[in-house]
Amino acid sequence: MPFDISQPFDVIIAGAGLAGGSLALRLARSGARVALLDPARFPREKLCGEFLSPEAWEVLDRLGLTRDVERSGYEPIHRVRLTTPRARVLEAEFTGLDGLPGIGLGRSVLDNLLVQHARAAGVEILEEARVTGPVVHQGCVVGVQARGAGGGGPPFELRATVTVAAEGRHSSLVRQTGTTRTRSRFRPRLFGMKRHLNVPGAAAEPVGTVGLHLVPGGYGGTCRIEGGLTNLCALLPESALRTHRGQLDRLADNLFAANPALTRLWETCQPTGPWKTVAGVRVEASTPHLPGIFYTGDCQGTIDPLGGQGMTMALLGGETLAPFVTAALAVDASLVSLQRDYRAAWHRRFDRRILLCRLFHHILINPRMIDLASAFKTLAPKLLAAGFEQTRDRPAH
Ligand SMILES: Cc1cc2nc3c(=O)[nH]c(=O)nc-3n(C[C@H](O)[C@H](O)[C@H](O)COP(=O)(O)OP(=O)(O)OC[C@H]3O[C@@H](n4cnc5c(N)ncnc54)[C@H](O)[C@@H]3O)c2cc1C
Repeated sequence: MPFDISQPFDVIIAGAGLAGGSLALRLARSGARVALLDPARFPREKLCGEFLSPEAWEVLDRLGLTRDVERSGYEPIHRVRLTTPRARVLEAEFTGLDGLPGIGLGRSVLDNLLVQHARAAGVEILEEARVTGPVVHQGCVVGVQARGAGGGGPPFELRATVTVAAEGRHSSLVRQTGTTRTRSRFRPRLFGMKRHLNVPGAAAEPVGTVGLHLVPGGYGGTCRIEGGLTNLCALLPESALRTHRGQLDRLADNLFAANPALTRLWETCQPTGPWKTVAGVRVEASTPHLPGIFYTGDCQGTIDPLGGQGMTMALLGGETLAPFVTAALAVDASLVSLQRDYRAAWHRRFDRRILLCRLFHHILINPRMIDLASAFKTLAPKLLAAGFEQTRDRPAH
């Protein structure tokens, strides 16, 4: 063990993604003794479209990460391009937000930046440590049980005043300490698959553009990232996964053939790594039933991936939670009311954009709607840009 675990921590955070990493960084800077656990060794790849909305610049700035992101070789993104199986195209510029672009940046780079900053701020980071459940004492969460070697190693316990679940979707801590409510089930049920590609010039997404290429029941999203790579991240019906017996390349061959833009890209690209997948993509929100634990990022609630808001929400979510965790560290803190007040603050801050992204999904995933809209060459791009802008409301404070 790289540090002393016999002394309780102020805060244990399970999961060093954007929500957990950013929260750890904030709390350590405010003087808390923080442990951050993750089964991965950083830098690591992660399933994600890797498009950060322009609003993220503000929260990256507050975290002190702007300069590192600027130097990362990220791809500035200024517009979105929707294409349909009938080769119709609808494009919209991102508007407002001081003209700042969206950010195309791989999670191996971005999450690693956060982990490095957190370490420098004094966070005690335990890589290759998988949290398996809570430690509960007299009805209150007082720490976590974990296993080393990414989950296959020996079990151990860590104790803390406050525990935070930040393990992303399908969290075991959330399952064992609270309940999860599905707010929107996609029909058909959807799964995500992501891969990095080298795409030759002619077939590549135009510079500064994020693509949403519609196929039956879903879409393939494309986003240029650092190093000249393209992220291809598709959200597709789970039934297609079963039909193709889990053979992802064959599935891609068949489904991407429905859209000329995707066909061109897929036929000419060179993948640079394996597919990453996630099943059961839903819009959900969770509520803890035991005191002593808070949820953040996707553990607290998810948003439809199509709006490209999940990462920004994870970063903003850490910001929303930090003052409640700090208050919970006080000797006479009422953990139950802090939990309740935090959940209310989270819903106030994010429910509107979650609702709008759900609405967007139902409108944009419909190829016939986009075919029709593409005929309105001036109005449709304006409406689309205004719609995306609405999902990026600024915090009230
Ligand atoms: C198909 C798809 C595409 C998406 N595309 C985009 C996009 O382009 N832009 C965008 O903004 N959002 C996108 N999102 C959403 C975005 O990826 C998430 O909202 C965001 O990553 C949430 O951050 P998080 O820190 O809560 O969780 P995560 O990023 O999932 O991080 C969780 C961390 O916890 C760790 N962990 C897991 N289990 C354990 C355990 N047992 N113990 C300890 N640690 C654990 C993981 O290794 C990981 O490091 C997409 C989502 C999907 C499904």
